[in-house]
Parts: sequence; structure tokens; C-alpha cells
Amino acid sequence: MLNEKYHKLAEDITKKFPGALVLTEEPMKGHTTFRIGGPADIYIEPDYASIIPLVQYLKEQDVPFMVIGNGSNLLVSDDGIDGVVISLGKNSDGITISGDTMVVEAGAMLSSVANAAADAGLTGLEFASGIPGSIGGAVYMNAGAYGGEIKDVIESVLVLTEDLEKKVMTAEDLHMSYRHSSLMEEGGYVLSAVLKLSKGDKEEIKAKIADIREQRVAKQPLNFPSAGSTFKRPEGYFAGKLIDDAGLRGYSVGGAQVSEKHCGFVVNKGDAKAADVLKLMKDVDSKVFEMFGVHLSPEVRIVGRNIH
Ligand SMILES: Cc1cc2nc3c(=O)[nH]c(=O)nc-3n(C[C@H](O)[C@H](O)[C@H](O)COP(=O)(O)OP(=O)(O)OC[C@H]3O[C@@H](n4cnc5c(N)ncnc54)[C@H](O)[C@@H]3O)c2cc1C
Repeated sequence: MLNEKYHKLAEDITKKFPGALVLTEEPMKGHTTFRIGGPADIYIEPDYASIIPLVQYLKEQDVPFMVIGNGSNLLVSDDGIDGVVISLGKNSDGITISGDTMVVEAGAMLSSVANAAADAGLTGLEFASGIPGSIGGAVYMNAGAYGGEIKDVIESVLVLTEDLEKKVMTAEDLHMSYRHSSLMEEGGYVLSAVLKLSKGDKEEIKAKIADIREQRVAKQPLNFPSAGSTFKRPEGYFAGKLIDDAGLRGYSVGGAQVSEKHCGFVVNKGDAKAADVLKLMKDVDSKVFEMFGVHLSPEVRIVGRNIH
């Protein structure tokens, strides 16, 4: 049951920010690609102009909140999320192109940005076309694939700091490295990014995107809900190979399973709980450590009540 404080807060936010979608006790399984997660007390999809005043308001009210994108790298607790989830998506996904530069709002999906780049004959983003995340999530995670990383094409990122300052930061300022940015330690919210690409041949760019899509379909278990690679690549190894070599292909806990198709993915085979995924991750890490002396650390962000 939603407590009185959050009930009143949701009403206030609805009045103050008419451009925002405001839902209460919203199951997060509907907002994560894993299709797992209990309710957020309040779930908000703000329009771009409301993001800063909304964050400011929540800070003034001393309400816990987190910003998410497409929920494609999230494992949310079965007990849900305390406070507010701000989801940047459809309401803040503007893309503008000028010459070989793109300005993209945080909620824009990588696939849309990569396709827009291809249509404009701009190369450099093909690697990102099949990553099912937003620009905000991609910057936070320094998303990458097929030899590219988002940091390689970032000219600058507009960040709202925890002190509510708007700061223009480079990939270097953000200490972006393998699946890491300083936003993980220091907080701050990605509002938009300026991407620097190069002129290329439209047909070649589109062919490369199609080729990457085919490779993903062939190798990844895209027919089951997941959050992509569950673990980071340990230095000198591949997580999927270690898991396979440990005999864990298809290993299941409840509704969670090490994918039969790609051992680097944990998939939701039906009604998996976050607790199933966590237990499975722990078992996999223990077994791999026992056999190869290598620990696996999660790439998925584990969030919510009673889950750390
Ligand atoms: C089938 C599949 C394939 C995948 N393949 C890849 C791959 O090849 N390479 C790869 O790197 N990843 C991959 N992923 C993982 C995921 O898509 C990426 O990590 C992506 O960048 C996450 O973006 P998101 O918008 O979904 O972020 P979310 O999952 O919503 O959030 C992830 C983290 O980013 C933070 N965040 C989100 N938006 C903002 C913002 N605006 N400001 C501040 N913080 C923010 C959240 O708080 C959270 O901690 C895959 C996932 C799936 C399901």
C-alpha cells in the first residue's frame, strides 16, 4: 500500500508537471527488458523541459529517486523501488543533426540514433545499433559492442550534477572506460549528448548495421527477456566461455537460466524473480571461481529494496 506521503506527492507532481506521465505503485517488470521487478512507489516519464525542475523538486522534498532509460541493464528487486523512478524515454528523445554532429536527448534510443545517423550518411555509431538502451544509459554504462564504445563518439555530455548544476563534460571528464563512467560513483544525470561522427557511404553504413543485427540474432537469446551480458568481461577472459567451461550452460534457478544459446546471458524463462537471478549469479560466480580462480562481477545494475 502506498503511504500517504507518496500519495500526496504523486498528486502534487501531476499538478506541477502536466507534461509528465505519473503513475503510482507501478510494477517495474513492465519497464525492464528482464521483465522482472516489483513496484516503484511513483513512476514518472517527464517531458524534457520538466526534468531539471522535477529533480529539483524531489531533492527539496527529500524524496529518494533514480533516473533510468530503457531498463535494459537493470535487475530490479522483487520488492520494488522506494520513492520515485524517473524514466527518460519517449518524452525526451529528440535528435538533431547538423553536419557530422548529432545532438541527442538522453531518452533517445541507440537504435534510433544509429538509424538517424545512417540516414544522414554518418558513420561511427553502427556498433550501437543493436544495443537496446537509451543515450543516457549508454553514457552511464559506456555501452559498447563490436569494437566500438559510446565514449569514442562523444564530443560532450550535458550533465545535471547532484548540486543541480548543468555541466558540459567530455568522455575524459566522465572517466569513461570499460562499462564504467564516473556517474556511477559521483551521481549526476545525463540530459543530452553531442556525438561527433564522420561522413560515410549511406549504403555501406546500412549494410554494416544489418550485418551486426544478423550477428546478434544468430548469437544472442533475443527470444527471451534478459538484460544482455550479466557479468563484465574479466580481464583476459570471456565471462560466457568461463561459464560454459564450468558446465553451467542451461543452469537454472527458478525461472532464471544461464542461456543455452549464449552463456554470458541470464534469461527469464517465464516468471523469474529477481531473487532467482541473484541466486543464479551467486552460484555461477562461486563455481567459476572454484574452477578457474576468477571472480565475475555483475554488469547489470542491481537496484531496489532489500536487494544489495
Ligand atoms: C538483448 C540485450 C543486448 C545488449 N547488448 C549490449 C551490448 O552489446 N553492449 C552493451 O554495452 N550493453 C548491452 N546491453 C545492455 C544495455 O542495453 C546497455 O547497458 C544500455 O546502455 C543500457 O541503457 P538503458 O537506457 O536501458 O539504461 P537502464 O538499464 O535504464 O539504466 C542503466 C543504468 O544507467 C543509469 N541511467 C540511465 N539513464 C540515465 C541518465 N539519463 N542519467 C544518468 N544515469 C542514467 C541507470 O540509473 C542505471 O544505473 C544489452 C541488453 C540487452 C537486453
